[in-house]
Amino acid sequence: MSEILSILPIPAFKDNYIWLIDTNEGYIVVDPGDAVPVMKAIGSSINKDLTILITHHHFDHTGGVETLKDKYRANVLGPKGSPFKAIDQALISGDAFNLYGLFIEIDHIPGHTLDHIYYLIHDDNKSHLFCGDTVFSGGCGRVFEGTFKQMHDSLNKISALPNDTFVYPTHEYTLSNLKFALQAEPNNKDLQDYENHCQKLREQGTPTLPTSIKQELLINPFLRTHSSDIHAVLKNIRGIETTASEDVFSGLREWKDSF
Ligand code: ZN
Ligand code: FE
Repeated sequence: MSEILSILPIPAFKDNYIWLIDTNEGYIVVDPGDAVPVMKAIGSSINKDLTILITHHHFDHTGGVETLKDKYRANVLGPKGSPFKAIDQALISGDAFNLYGLFIEIDHIPGHTLDHIYYLIHDDNKSHLFCGDTVFSGGCGRVFEGTFKQMHDSLNKISALPNDTFVYPTHEYTLSNLKFALQAEPNNKDLQDYENHCQKLREQGTPTLPTSIKQELLINPFLRTHSSDIHAVLKNIRGIETTASEDVFSGLREWKDSF
């Protein structure tokens, strides 16, 4: 297996990151909503291959695809059945393949959109999860097309991945997510520490991402539906009395939608 040389966040729009993975054999660009910052990052002529990975059809994840495809003759991988039409190779749950010496696994994680998939990329001894708008640090994507049950199932798939998996969401929403997380679980010491840490990062203009499965299991309320602290807050503030994971998730998601 070959090695990843670097994984860099290319800032785009207000708070998107387009992830650029550099390997010896080629570049991998994840969710290029805008072509311009990608072309600035890699230069107008490149001496290696370029592959584009799409997690879901939203414009802020796909708007730069056609331009990059034309300019670099990029191959575009994305979910089967996606409303986004410029996909060369359509992927479904369970697909696995090698790209530039890296092993990549696909799973379908509907909820935010119905076509949403993740890419789990393995190099020598590390795993990197590109999860689009499904998990953010301290939060999760809005449920636009799927059901709360689908989103809950998708988040369960992600939280079952090994603890040391790095997680690369597509938006820098961390601080505002943590404001909500602290309302939902005020006594979580790891969460308090993490907010301090992320605040310092943002003051320096540093991304809070990637995060990890381990970190998110400690601080992300949407992955912590077992927390008795959260159950008590949902009951007291939202009048929802339940310990059932799916109902706790729905209670949190609805609350966050109006937060
Ligand atoms: Zn989206
Ligand atoms: Fe997005």
